Amino acid sequence: MKHLASLNRFFWNYRWRLLLGILFVVLTNYFRILSPQLTGYVVNIVVNKADHSTVATTHNNQNDIIVQAIINHLEAKSFGEKVLWSGITLLILAVISGFFMFLMRQTIIVMSRLIEYDQKNQVFTHYQQLDTNFYKTHSTGDLMNRISEDISRVRMYTGPAIMYVVNLAVTIGFSIYFMVKASPRLTIVALSPLPILAFTIYFVNTIIHKKSERIQALLSDLTTNAQESYSGIRVIKSFVQERTMFGFFTKNSEEYRKNALGLAKTEAIYFPSIALLIGLSTLITIMVGGLDYVHDPIHNKVGTIAEFVLYIQMLTFPVSAIGWTASMIQRAAASQKRINEFLQTRPTIQNAIEKIKPPLTGNISFTNVDFTYPHTGINAVKNFSLQVAPGEKIAIVGRTGSGKSTIAQLLLRMYDPQKGMIMYDGAPLTKIDIEYLRSQISYVPQDVFLFSETVSNNIRFGYDDATQEQIVKAAKQASVHNEIEHFAHQYETLIGERGVTLSGGQKQRISIARALIKEAKIVIFDDCLSAVDVKTEKEILNGLNEYLDKKTAIIITHRIFSLITFDKIIVIDEGKIVEEGTHDQLLQKNGYYADMYARQQNQEDTNDDISRN
Ligand code: ADP
Ligand code: MG
Repeated sequence: MKHLASLNRFFWNYRWRLLLGILFVVLTNYFRILSPQLTGYVVNIVVNKADHSTVATTHNNQNDIIVQAIINHLEAKSFGEKVLWSGITLLILAVISGFFMFLMRQTIIVMSRLIEYDQKNQVFTHYQQLDTNFYKTHSTGDLMNRISEDISRVRMYTGPAIMYVVNLAVTIGFSIYFMVKASPRLTIVALSPLPILAFTIYFVNTIIHKKSERIQALLSDLTTNAQESYSGIRVIKSFVQERTMFGFFTKNSEEYRKNALGLAKTEAIYFPSIALLIGLSTLITIMVGGLDYVHDPIHNKVGTIAEFVLYIQMLTFPVSAIGWTASMIQRAAASQKRINEFLQTRPTIQNAIEKIKPPLTGNISFTNVDFTYPHTGINAVKNFSLQVAPGEKIAIVGRTGSGKSTIAQLLLRMYDPQKGMIMYDGAPLTKIDIEYLRSQISYVPQDVFLFSETVSNNIRFGYDDATQEQIVKAAKQASVHNEIEHFAHQYETLIGERGVTLSGGQKQRISIARALIKEAKIVIFDDCLSAVDVKTEKEILNGLNEYLDKKTAIIITHRIFSLITFDKIIVIDEGKIVEEGTHDQLLQKNGYYADMYARQQNQEDTNDDISRN
């Protein structure tokens, strides 16, 4: 339960609304509790009329003042009028009580929606602060679950559960108060089955709770199963695995069906057993009350029995709600615990207390940097040192898995190295304001990600104020403008599931345009031409030469670009620098680079041959 305490500050924010809600709960219950008393009065006058009795029915100090005032008012009227006016009053009381019930829901349930909204924003904002490592260790499904499923379960606590608990307390308080006033003896009789009722509800509910947890888990399996089948439909079809997938699905849904039926059975005995016990309570109340009346008609009245039966009925719903209110609270606590786990995770990459914003000219240095991925223990960069002067063009080459992308990640401070130091213009990277740093770098990541948005919004992503001309210019530089022009709505074409499906190369080039439009002084390209054919690659590189003028560029590639003159080429293997120098120097060395270059030339020749044929 302690986990739910973290919600108290939300309750505090909405304290007036909550108090108002509680007031409405009290009012709706108050107006409801008056009707049994008035009904009791009506029954008494009817009985008296039938018996021709003269026992006074009007002076009864057990009634509420409002009821008593109404009764006093009716005293002088005829029998028929008394019954009629009582009936009308009962109707009015029901309407008033209903009106306050409406207001009660309007305040408390609306409050829970507002808290839900605040909480979602809180979690989302927190998610955005967490670092890459966090996202590597938690699945997207998990993150999604906590922000949607868990938060809605918590809402069941901040809304309905709170409302039912308050309602239960108020109903019990009011009815027991008036019951004891009317007849303490009958109160004990009427309430005697309640402990058994509470126990039954608790017992059955624990079973229901366990079963529904299991069903939740099965449902989640089933959804994952279905989701994977839809997203992997192309693979499934091409490997002719529809039957197998269907087999998995039926197996899972069979399991789900069995459990759901089991739950339905348990639930089926829940309400009948409550009804049975309530019936029992009504029965003994009528029996004992009736016997009392028979023995002493002067002091006991039939009306009291009617009044009690109504009280018992009034208690039925709140008491039977105890069970599921309890399980709602349990679930909410479990969900809040999961939410808190994430909220308490602190990003390992954080701004220094005295963060600085030095002008970044492109002077970058790595000194003996060593980096191991925390969760896998892979030592991706080893004793890496590099000096980059402003305006230099640096190429980093090496085979897959050699640590190239890791270096780009370190430059953007997605991770902090365990050893060594990275500096921008003499300032340690850890001191520089992270947002400022990232805003100063045009970065094209290796794995392209485009949003399900229009082409132009994807390009202007990091630069909201971009004009249409700037967008077109960037697209031209990235050699993707012509293709965009051929889309159905050109730059306003939607990308993704609801829009066009782009080829790998087109995606890469839009991603490049997105980086180019930023016009930052520092440019980092991570293998961003891998899915582009050689001809387009040449086009882009030709355009880039001019763009990169006066900028500092770190270009990561597994192909050698002869179109850009690099000031320095770094060859890395297994996280270490193995060769370093200019294109000509490296060719002379006749090592890894020269070998790679020769192989690439060969390939291009063959490609040319193929295209010529
Ligand atoms: P490259 O870009 O040269 O292909 P990377 O920098 O991506 O190489 O990877 C270097 C090494 O680090 C590889 O062994 C790879 O498996 C590992 N690695 C890369 N990214 C991660 C990550 N997010 N978590 C754990 N290990 C990683
Ligand atoms: Mg890479």
